[in-house]
Amino acid sequence: MSRSLPIVIAGGGIGGLAAAVGLAQRGVRSIVLERSAVFSEIGAGIQLGPNAFHAFDYLGVGDAARKMAVYIDALRLMDAMSGEEITKIPLDDPFRARFGNPYAVVHRGDLYSVFLNAAMASDLIDLRASTEVIGYDQDGSSVTARLKSGETLTGAALVGADGLWSKIRAQMVGDTARVTGHTTYRSVIPTEQMPEDLRWNAATLWAGPKCHIVHYPLSGWKTFNLVVTYHNDAPEPVAGQPVSHEEVMLGFQHVHPRAQKIIAHGTDWKKWVLCDRDPILNWRDGRVVLLGDAAHPTLQYMAQGACMAMEDAVCLSHEVANTTGDIETAFEAYRGKRTARTARIQIQSRLVGDHIYHPASGHAALRNAMMQAMSPNDYYDSLQWLYGGSGLAEGAGAVR
Ligand SMILES: Cc1cc2nc3c(=O)[nH]c(=O)nc-3n(C[C@H](O)[C@H](O)[C@H](O)COP(=O)(O)OP(=O)(O)OC[C@H]3O[C@@H](n4cnc5c(N)ncnc54)[C@H](O)[C@@H]3O)c2cc1C
Repeated sequence: MSRSLPIVIAGGGIGGLAAAVGLAQRGVRSIVLERSAVFSEIGAGIQLGPNAFHAFDYLGVGDAARKMAVYIDALRLMDAMSGEEITKIPLDDPFRARFGNPYAVVHRGDLYSVFLNAAMASDLIDLRASTEVIGYDQDGSSVTARLKSGETLTGAALVGADGLWSKIRAQMVGDTARVTGHTTYRSVIPTEQMPEDLRWNAATLWAGPKCHIVHYPLSGWKTFNLVVTYHNDAPEPVAGQPVSHEEVMLGFQHVHPRAQKIIAHGTDWKKWVLCDRDPILNWRDGRVVLLGDAAHPTLQYMAQGACMAMEDAVCLSHEVANTTGDIETAFEAYRGKRTARTARIQIQSRLVGDHIYHPASGHAALRNAMMQAMSPNDYYDSLQWLYGGSGLAEGAGAVR
């Protein structure tokens, strides 16, 4: 599919950069327009399922990505009320053999650098910071991005990778985000400050009534990532606002002291009031298509938002390079392959929050009993649709 104009990508987050890198791998030029003054990511952790590694390889950054990851031994679920372990899903050789790749945790900045370095090294990618896109026009053979500065930029097509509050989605779809009333607080602490008996090589989640705590090691074990969430019915969206330690502790007065002790060491807390959207099918308007959080913003409860954005990049670049026909046909093929899988992540993330992370009393006891009855293979079977898939897999797997 040859074309003289580049593809314009609105948004230089993980999704937008991954798309640019994937397109460049297949010889397609792009211009990435990023609203912020610098291309960067927030300082926190991120979990990566095996499907993220399938995507890294397809996008040509597998080696660089593998170098910066911490490979954990287990996903560990704790009861925040009793302080006891509920279950542990091993991530050792049988897991890796089953899914063809490991499970890992990384610093977001490190992950972002993998894509940024690849983008900067490519002659086919033009990165432009301080460039906010506010809308688009199209004429059947090209798309013109309208910029906040009053200027315009014309490309062969436009990819809206501009996140939860996407301007491209606002014009294309016009729906509103759902403010969930769940608030997440993030902190990264030096490993020495993490209680010694909890320095596990695991992604650990403490599940409590209307709250949960997540921790895992980062950056070659120099730091620990703390992410704590509780329902406080916050009415307005917030992203990355600094808050006091007291505000964080408010949601954890009712949990076991062992769980409270983890939060006690957090510093420089920042808060996010979580939002998502209902799954939709109309991600494409002619030569304009959505990708990543702009297309399918989700709660982080399955740790898959960035993984899905990278899978989108795989699928988009694959279809642009391999679809016979024009770019609208390629974008339609991408959209068709991605909607069911990403919808499952959006819906299942809500269910995981309600039924695994946040239940109380008898509901929590039922969770514990059911999860304790599952073997590692039962867990692997239930995750096959997700970790066994990639951006090239269609559909959402069977119901389990
Ligand atoms: C607390 C928390 C924990 C998470 N943990 C995980 C995890 O463990 N694993 C996982 O896979 N995912 C996780 N996620 C989800 C993940 O962070 C997102 O899904 C992912 O960052 C989405 O990438 P994106 O590029 O689509 O969007 P974004 O990261 O939002 O990037 C959008 C980019 O576009 C820019 N932009 C916005 N508007 C415009 C505009 N109009 N013009 C130009 N540029 C614009 C922004 O500045 C930004 O750089 C988590 C999310 C949260 C909130």
